[in-house]
Amino acid sequence: MESTTAEPDRRSVLAKTRAGVRAVLRGVLDIGLPPLCPSCREPVRDPGGLCATCWSRLNFITRPYCERLGIPFAYDPGPGILSMQAIADPPAYGRARAAVRFDEVARSLVHALKYGDRLDVAPTLAGWMAQAGRELLAEADALVPVPLHWRRLWARRFNQSAVLANCLSASAKVPVSTALKRTRATPQQVGLAKAERAQNVQGAFRVPAAAKAEVSGRRLVLVDDVLTSGATLDACARALLRSGASQVDVLTFARVVDVVRAPI
Ligand SMILES: [Zn+2]
Repeated sequence: MESTTAEPDRRSVLAKTRAGVRAVLRGVLDIGLPPLCPSCREPVRDPGGLCATCWSRLNFITRPYCERLGIPFAYDPGPGILSMQAIADPPAYGRARAAVRFDEVARSLVHALKYGDRLDVAPTLAGWMAQAGRELLAEADALVPVPLHWRRLWARRFNQSAVLANCLSASAKVPVSTALKRTRATPQQVGLAKAERAQNVQGAFRVPAAAKAEVSGRRLVLVDDVLTSGATLDACARALLRSGASQVDVLTFARVVDVVRAPI
């Protein structure tokens, strides 16, 4: 009987030793090697910072843009003008803002954050988001990260939206609310058409009764990494508004900008 208890002990000691060695090696590597650009992996000076080439290839979104959807206009139509999309198919959320267009460099940054464990890039992305969303943040009572289903959270170990919301919270001095829950795991939105995306996330989010007070009468900013069709953020906004939120805006690091239709 003794050997059966001693064996797991020895194994756990071995595992701890290996983990310790790995931690030391990682420390040595951190000291010995310069930080790498999260987009192209060229050495850079500041951890989490971009190299000059990738920085110059990012497309920051600035005015003129649709005041509702934040979609950039090709020319300035004058103050307060909305895009065709905002008039024809208005979302449940009030205003959407994003720091950059979702192009090649933005995609690699989101990938690094989401799947590459480059959490050190989060403060850089959140800094740009704070700039793009400063009007929204100035009015906000709380930041609400788009929740992951617990099973996906368990597999990935962290929610990139929550990481960005926490970074924003620290700089904008707005608290984070976790009142919004994902009640079912939805298949990935990639490859789905707009109507299918909306169908896919319909009813997937909910504010539990116990958390309603956190939402009711509050001005909220939903935080996510990318706005693609807006279907997920729309479903989140609907759930928050159903629970009595007085205002729901959206702030993402990047947004897909495909067709820029002429404003009215
Ligand atoms: Zn680079």
